[in-house]
Amino acid sequence: MAKDSENIKIMADLLRQGATLTEHACPACSSPIFKLKRGDLWCASCQKRVILVKEGEPEPEAKETPVFSSLETTLMNKIGQIEKQLAEEMDPEKLTTLGATLSSLLENLEKIKNIKK
Ligand SMILES: [Zn+2]
Repeated sequence: MAKDSENIKIMADLLRQGATLTEHACPACSSPIFKLKRGDLWCASCQKRVILVKEGEPEPEAKETPVFSSLETTLMNKIGQIEKQLAEEMDPEKLTTLGATLSSLLENLEKIKNIKK
């Protein structure tokens, strides 16, 4: 697994290249999965292509508490906003700030996912 700071750089690079953040998590490391321009799903943390099995999608989310669900949605929305800013931002300093923000948002998202397990 890449280090956190490297991760952010990789993620920022992916976003700059036109990749988008998906709502899926990597089955191996539960990092958010990116969708590359050519349509591949990519885990920036494992640095490899992810194949998501779509059949039936076993989602044990019935037990989910509403608070965490809405928190998660809020975080995902924020991440989406940061993603857009990252894609347009050219200033390295601002990119670092955005990267740090993205990092903490992702961390929080991960925490929620862990609590929900
Ligand atoms: Zn992964």
